[in-house]
Amino acid sequence: MNVKGGIDLGGTKIQAVVMGPRGKVVGEAKLPTPEEGGPPAVVEQIVETMREAASMAGVGTEELAGVGLGSPGAVDAEAGIVAGARNLPDWEEAFPLALALSERMGCPVALGNDVQVAVDGEFALGAGRRNSSLLGVWWGTGVGGGIILGGKPWIGRGAAAEIGHIVVKMGGARCTCGRDGCMEAYAGRGAMEIEARRQVKKGHETELFEIMEKRGRTRLQSGIWARALEREDPLAVKLIDRAVEALGAGVASVVNVLDVEAVVIGGGLGTRLGEPYVDRIREAMQPHLFVSDRPPAVRSAALGDLGGAIGASLLVKGRARARKPAAGLAE
Ligand SMILES: [Zn+2]
Repeated sequence: MNVKGGIDLGGTKIQAVVMGPRGKVVGEAKLPTPEEGGPPAVVEQIVETMREAASMAGVGTEELAGVGLGSPGAVDAEAGIVAGARNLPDWEEAFPLALALSERMGCPVALGNDVQVAVDGEFALGAGRRNSSLLGVWWGTGVGGGIILGGKPWIGRGAAAEIGHIVVKMGGARCTCGRDGCMEAYAGRGAMEIEARRQVKKGHETELFEIMEKRGRTRLQSGIWARALEREDPLAVKLIDRAVEALGAGVASVVNVLDVEAVVIGGGLGTRLGEPYVDRIREAMQPHLFVSDRPPAVRSAALGDLGGAIGASLLVKGRARARKPAAGLAE
């Protein structure tokens, strides 16, 4: 049977899909990422999530043609190893994830970088499916990227598309990577939260942390920023404005180098804030574009919440790799 699995391994949740022969989602499941227990606990939960999705599709995991997984951290796709996944519990050392999963699920498992597989998904089935070159900008806790050139992913020597760490201001804000002036230091949700806490200590008022506490959260997740923006909270507005400016400068600079046909904006914050903010990023790019009368298309990611898992399923070689639009996608 030509069905295959895809998994998006995130810091807060694990999502799994089963893709049918025509690139349609025939099973899906979502479980929280374990907060402790290291790689073995994460492996257990991934297997459980995939089993649920497979059972919804009426198959066992051993009947899948294979499973692709998009992982955070440093991914060695060839060796099937993940190291330094700081969003996952006790996951600094290299761990042979592909082998561990394949033994438990009874089918081949392929690994990829989480952002790159999501961008591959948009390229094959989503917002970039009519383009041959694409820059994906995944605006979330950090700002990740993915590049498609000449119809193929460009990963350089393995570390390409780290768009969050291009410099938008010499000697600028301290980035979570330890360098100064990176785009992510202004636009990453993690960096924005650090700045918001600093401003509160200095006496600035904001509803951000009130909304956070009301929702029983400990971090400023995307939905909290969205709510604060709706309420026109001045600090939230100021920090998001700054983020949009940084994204405009950074993304336009990359476009000046690569001259891609399209830019796709995804990620937790990008997806949550949606179209109006994609429009604002497009406007913020304009003054920095060298060939300003021929800007690339700038679009929202189209595959939605399941995009990461759907993209990961494309790591499994097979017929469904052909570029066919998924059912029900908006043009
Ligand atoms: Zn950085």
